[in-house]
Amino acid sequence: MTKHTHRIEPGTRVHLDRIDPDDTGPLHSKEKARARLAEDLEELRRLQYLLYADGTHAVLVVLQAMDTGGKDGVIRHVMSGLNPAGCVVTSFKVPSSEEHQHDYLWRIHKAVPARGTIGVFNRSHYEDVLVVRVHGLVPEETWRARYRQINEFERMLTENGISILKIYLHIGKEEQAERLRARIQDPAKNWKFSMADLEERKRWKDYMEAFEDALRECSTEWAPWHVVPATHKWYRDAAVARLLRRRLEALDLTTPEPREDLAKIVIR
Ligand code: ADP
Repeated sequence: MTKHTHRIEPGTRVHLDRIDPDDTGPLHSKEKARARLAEDLEELRRLQYLLYADGTHAVLVVLQAMDTGGKDGVIRHVMSGLNPAGCVVTSFKVPSSEEHQHDYLWRIHKAVPARGTIGVFNRSHYEDVLVVRVHGLVPEETWRARYRQINEFERMLTENGISILKIYLHIGKEEQAERLRARIQDPAKNWKFSMADLEERKRWKDYMEAFEDALRECSTEWAPWHVVPATHKWYRDAAVARLLRRRLEALDLTTPEPREDLAKIVIR
């Protein structure tokens, strides 16, 4: 993994237990991280405007994590700084009966952002090689074939102007225990507590294996994965904002040429 960009180099085997979820990269304090986040958010607003004006690209942020990993927090702290007119968040839950009647990418493709906008997936098609694998909801040959299918799907999107930024928010098992306890102890967080999360926690090891395989099989040149250490929420938010900023910068966005010869226009 490349340091501080958190990028998983295509073709490398990922050992999540060797990636420190407490890491704070070059940012050693909350104050420093918050200051950089504020700077990046301001720049992101400018870049988002250019993305809209340029109108040839879209950016798709794919967020995956274990329960309590902080997907909602990232959306609140990073995406909320953007212009809501050009940013759509889609949360993927257990498929509806209609969705079940289609292939697993059907609902995903429909939610891919339009050119000029940023789309955020809170969970994604990766659930179809994660929860689906861990719970044995389809036979192994079915989920195994999906790594290739997902890579091809993402390649097609990339070739059509959709820049995909995939982020796994990395927390440890003990940190998850703390966060689940907080949901019981803190009345303001009680509403978030669900027995289902405790059931999933029992399968932690299976989930880690499924994530490691997804990260390895689907970190591609066109859509690499990033593993962001997420114990410290201030670091997590700053790191995600920086990744998104860099991704938008890489698009080399410009405002289009005026459609008319403006020098000749007189407005009376
Ligand atoms: P979240 O945890 O994302 O805030 P929920 O508590 O409603 O939201 O959980 C959504 C649930 O939907 C998760 O348990 C997730 O594993 C499940 N889910 C999402 N996609 C699929 C899928 N394709 N197949 C089965 N379950 C899925």
